[in-house]
Amino acid sequence: MDNAGSRFSPIQAFLEFLHAKYAPLREGEVATYIPELATADPEAFGICVATTDGFVYEVGASRQEFTIQSISKPFVYGLALDDNGPEWMMAKVGVEPSGDAFNAISLHKVTGCPLNPMINTGAIATTGQIAADTPQQRLERILQMFSLYAGRRLRIDQDVYLSESRTGHRNRAIGHLLRNFDVLTDEPNATVDTYFQQCAIAVTCGDLALMGATLANQGINPLTGVRAIREDHVENVLSVMASCGMYDFSGGWIYNVGMPAKSGVAGGVLAVLPGQLGIGVYSPRLDTQGNSVRALKVCEELSRAWELHQFNPPYCPQNSRRLTYTSAQRTSSRTRHPAEREHLRASGHLIHVVEMQSNLAFSTTEPIIRDVIGSAEKPRGMILDCHHVTSINRVAARLLADLARDLKSRKCDVYFTHTSRLPMLKAQVATHLADSDLCAELFRYHSTDAALEQCEDLLLGEARAQHTSGKNLREFEITAGLTEEELAVFASLLTDRHYASGEVIIRLGTESTNLFLITKGVVGVWLGAVTGEGRRMGSFSVGTMVGEMAFLDGEKRSANVVAEGDVECAVLEIATFLALQQSHPTLHTKILRNIGISLATKLRKLNQDVTILSAQRD
Ligand code: GLN
Repeated sequence: MDNAGSRFSPIQAFLEFLHAKYAPLREGEVATYIPELATADPEAFGICVATTDGFVYEVGASRQEFTIQSISKPFVYGLALDDNGPEWMMAKVGVEPSGDAFNAISLHKVTGCPLNPMINTGAIATTGQIAADTPQQRLERILQMFSLYAGRRLRIDQDVYLSESRTGHRNRAIGHLLRNFDVLTDEPNATVDTYFQQCAIAVTCGDLALMGATLANQGINPLTGVRAIREDHVENVLSVMASCGMYDFSGGWIYNVGMPAKSGVAGGVLAVLPGQLGIGVYSPRLDTQGNSVRALKVCEELSRAWELHQFNPPYCPQNSRRLTYTSAQRTSSRTRHPAEREHLRASGHLIHVVEMQSNLAFSTTEPIIRDVIGSAEKPRGMILDCHHVTSINRVAARLLADLARDLKSRKCDVYFTHTSRLPMLKAQVATHLADSDLCAELFRYHSTDAALEQCEDLLLGEARAQHTSGKNLREFEITAGLTEEELAVFASLLTDRHYASGEVIIRLGTESTNLFLITKGVVGVWLGAVTGEGRRMGSFSVGTMVGEMAFLDGEKRSANVVAEGDVECAVLEIATFLALQQSHPTLHTKILRNIGISLATKLRKLNQDVTILSAQRD
């Protein structure tokens, strides 16, 4: 545990303040009914708070070991749920608060089952449900499970175990009662003995806080990253803690503190703020209900000071829509024929990009869905960009899958992009839709840019076909404003070149000064390597020019340009162009101006991208 970072923290300071404030409190009695517990130092007092990213604040006797006692009950219940499922467990042990003391010999009047797993009857019944062939194996599985929660190998305090084993007649009576009602089907003494051992596991406040943080973190220990309980059973465990965890003070506790918690007769209290924190407090003096007096005070004050009450959370889930735009506002990085650009300006509003962010769960995904289906005109393309999504739960993944299927059925192309960090999304969409072709299609593109380019191509459809081949120079951006004669002169200066797919047309770092007019196909612009680790910065299609920077300034090439499929170019050599200055000065000026305009268009697009991507954020 490394908590050096907490030295100057106001959080650490507040915990120290609480420790100093309640250390003089000497109310309550150390438990003596288990003789060994009476030897505890009544002054021992530790407080720990662990976050769901594994940071542990600690004050006082935070590393002193004591026995876990009843705090073991919810964790063993979790293991029993993992082993047998909730249905089986419900048939064995209820989930209703009893209002009785923890050691009451009480079973449900009708069913004969213990009322809940947090009182001794329910806890012993629960221990009996842990799958094992022998009592040793059962104990080892229990120890193993606790060690996963704590992130270190825990051990049993033999003195406390033997002490309780020698005196625990009441619990043995409970064991036999459970056997009588067939809640336990094995020899009851062995199960009660395992129960005594689970109660005698030695822990520190730091362990308790981390165990709490593991429950707060959907069952994954935040320090080790190892799962201690199935994700879907965390809520079952926390629910019984919330309703029954503090013995017959459970109602008062949830009312005042508002966090699921569990206490033990050795003086430990563990509280959990789901999704956020685990708290461990240790002080052996107990009140008449068996709860640590100081721990109660500390938790109450912590909850009030930091506003931790579960039923009044300090924030509402944020809208997860980070940025939305259409292709009319921002196109892909493809530089297109002027006529195509015009077309996209007019109909690009049918292609939507929705950048999502933060944690996607029901309440953060719902506004996205409302937004997407509420778009005024029937969309033709919908890109759901997950680049800034930090997590996604099952519900959100399924809702988005349903949304995608629905849009697809209404002839809208849908793509989830930047999903590599969210394997959960793809897995859930695949299981939910049970349509591998559709799923492959939805995740076809890694980048939003590639998906946008595809949506634009589809939208352009026919309009695009006219420009994808042929060499009607009249429509090229470089020939704008040329007379028929000028066009003929210009055409005579060009040489045709053909490139096969993957061929490098311009190589990064070389000194070549030709200007390329694309007359067929598409070329890609790559930084770094040509493919693979390189980065595709953009692409150019028919009617556009590439290479004009080095053409004008004579510097080395700043990127690789590669043929994507069959490509034909009309090439203008710099020497030929310079000669025009003498022979056809007006033509020379017009061409120069058109190259300038082409550069200006690219610069304008960059400016517009920056404006959209930075300023329009919700
Ligand atoms: N081992 C103790 C018992 O069964 C645990 C009780 C508790 O911590 N409340 O009596």
